[in-house]
Parts: sequence; C-alpha cells; structure tokens
Amino acid sequence: MRSRSLVCTGCGCLCDDIQVQTNDSRPILIENACAKGAAHIQASFNPERRPHCTIGGRQCGPGEAVAEARRLLGNSRNPLIFGLDSSTLSAQSLAIALARKLGGSIDSAASFSYGPLLAAMLGGDLPACSLAEVKDRADLLLYWGADPPNTHPRHLSLHSYYAYSEYNPAGWYPRVTLVCVEVRRTELSSMSKPAIRIKPGEDRAVIEAITGEAQSQVGAAQGLAELIRKSHFCVLFCGLGLMHSLGGDPGPLVRMARLFAGSTRMAVIPMISEVNMMGFCRLLHQTAGQVSSVGFKDGTAAGREHSFLEQVRRRSADCVLIVGSDPFAALPQSVMENLGDAKIVCLSPLATASTMAADVVIPTALPGVECGGSVLRMDGVEVALAELEKGAYPTEEAVLSRLLEIL
Ligand code: SF4
Repeated sequence: MRSRSLVCTGCGCLCDDIQVQTNDSRPILIENACAKGAAHIQASFNPERRPHCTIGGRQCGPGEAVAEARRLLGNSRNPLIFGLDSSTLSAQSLAIALARKLGGSIDSAASFSYGPLLAAMLGGDLPACSLAEVKDRADLLLYWGADPPNTHPRHLSLHSYYAYSEYNPAGWYPRVTLVCVEVRRTELSSMSKPAIRIKPGEDRAVIEAITGEAQSQVGAAQGLAELIRKSHFCVLFCGLGLMHSLGGDPGPLVRMARLFAGSTRMAVIPMISEVNMMGFCRLLHQTAGQVSSVGFKDGTAAGREHSFLEQVRRRSADCVLIVGSDPFAALPQSVMENLGDAKIVCLSPLATASTMAADVVIPTALPGVECGGSVLRMDGVEVALAELEKGAYPTEEAVLSRLLEIL
C-alpha cells in the first residue's frame, strides 16, 4: 500500500490537499476530493474510459498514429490547433511552437469564454488578486453569474467563504458578506445575503446603472453599489453567466472597478473551470501579444478569423489537431458539423465525443494523475502537479515534441 499527496485536476480549484492510497497501482482510498474530483482520478484507472490509438477507427500502434498525424498536418494548407486548456505549461509551449512551425492557427476555448476578460487582466485594465489574499482579508465576496457549488464544488470551502477563520458571535456564519448576482435560484443564492436576482441579459444594464452610464435606473444596482462602496476589499468572482451576458466585453467591469478604486480595493478572479486556461492565455499573450485566436501563416497575426469557431464556420481549417479538449461535446452539433471534410487528430487522455469523431486518436497521460507538470490556477498562481502512477500512455509533451521533430 502506498500513500500519495495529489493536486486534483478535476476542475479549476486545483485542490492541493488530496490524499490517495494505492494498492497494486490502483487507488483504493481517495481523501478530501469532492465526488467530481474522485471520479476524475478514478477515470484514468478505468479501461472503458480510455481511448485506443486509432487511424480511421482501426486500432494501431502509437508510432503509426503519430506518423499519420504527421502526414495529415504536414499536408494541410490551413492547420488549426485547438484545446490545451487542461494541458501543462510545457505542453502548451510546444503546441504554440508547433503552430508556428506549421504556419497554422492556434486557439482555445478562451476565445468563446474568458479570453477578453483575461486579456483585460493581463493588460492591467482589471485588478486581480490571489486566492490566498482573499481568505480573512476580503470583506465582500461577490459571485456574479457563477454557481461554484455545482461547477467548482470545493471553491467555497477551500478558497473563499468557508475558508474564513473568524465567525459571527453565534458561531454560525463566517465574518464576510457573501453576495451573488444571478438570473435564477441556485445553491449559492440560497446561502447568499443578499442574493440579487436580475433578468437574463440585464447584467450590462445593472453595471451601467452603477457607473452612471445608463439612462434609466435598474432595481438591483443601487443596493449592490452601496454594498461595494461600504466594503474595504471586494472580490468579484466572475462567472461564465456574466461573461456571456456581456457578450465577452469586459469594458463595463473595467469602468466599474475604476469607479470604486478610490474607496474600495476591488479584484477580479475568473471562475475558470479548465485546469490551465489561464496558463495558455498568458503564454500566448507573451508569445503573440494576444490571449487566443492567433495565426502564424505570414508572421504572427491575431483576430477573429483565427478563432476556432470562425474557422469551423467558414470551413477554412482543413486539419484540426485537438489537444486535451472535447469541442464535439461542448459545442452544438450544428457548429461542429461544419468541419465537414477536415481531418481531425485528437490527443486525449479520455474517450470523448471528440475521440469518436477523430480520424487519428493518440491517447495521452492524464496530467495530475499519470504525469506531473505545472499549471496556472484561476488566480494566476503557478501550481505544480504530482504524478500518482505512471501509466502506459505518453504525455502530451512527448507526442507534441515528436511531431515537432518530424514535421
Ligand atoms: S473541487 Fe475541483 S479540484 Fe477540488 S476536488 Fe473537486 S473537482 Fe477536484
């Protein structure tokens, strides 16, 4: 029997207090992980959840699959690399180098989720803070368009509300104000005091009413502005609900943060679910000056035409290398069927809708279980992953390095 400490890669919380006991290289006891995290760790030991090396659905050896991936990518006129939000920093660097070598495009799910917000944060337009700074220091926790009990099950207990060490005199509630802004009842709204209910799509109007840009008043705005103004340190946990409602435009949030800058320290933490979207965006920003949708055909260019969605919509990509992502499950079929005749190469630790659709599948090790590496958590702090058991699969780094060598 062997006991190991792990960082769970089941969601963006990256809980670093996981203990796993193994016997005969299989986990027999997983401590501290939520049900989602435990299922994630168990998945890599379940042969039915692992994909096979295949070409056109026919099982083959890894060497043959890598050679076919090389042939498809090498023959492509407009290759596109997509995914990487759950890959380690070193795999992401190799994928960017590969896109450059191929003269292709590279993109991640950030281009249709948190990309613009992360660009504003990396550009210094929105203040940030680490999760370690939140506990016992922030006096207002504002979750907007996010429901962590469902998306990030241990976020409140490990990083925010329940992590506080001081409680009210009755010993019932942590000494911090928990507020949520939501369009519906959620688990978080039942705990929040107050839970501010707004209409779907009303987020921008609420923020603009707070900043004084709106023509008319919105009911929720006044109370919310008062709460922020009275606080010393407000952390805005920004959920996908807010980002989609703003159409990806972080401008209203930038103006709101500026408005309160004189009276309140305000910091933004994006509620990213993917393990290393922050890392990919930061690396691409350092390399190409943009957090997503970059092309290397004639030098370095960025823009919508290099985004995954636009390339799929226009049917311009003729070969797509998907790395550690499952766009066939995440995006509507009506979008994905536009891929038409494009060849798809998929590197994935688990069997997914994307591995089922791919022309070439290369199974890889699951980061944080079968291999280590470094990732950036949602607050930008670098976290080192541990390896529980080395599996039979190569790492994404090994496959990408091989492709770089032979292309
Ligand atoms: S909250 Fe997320 S990182 Fe933590 S144990 Fe659950 S799935 Fe894993």
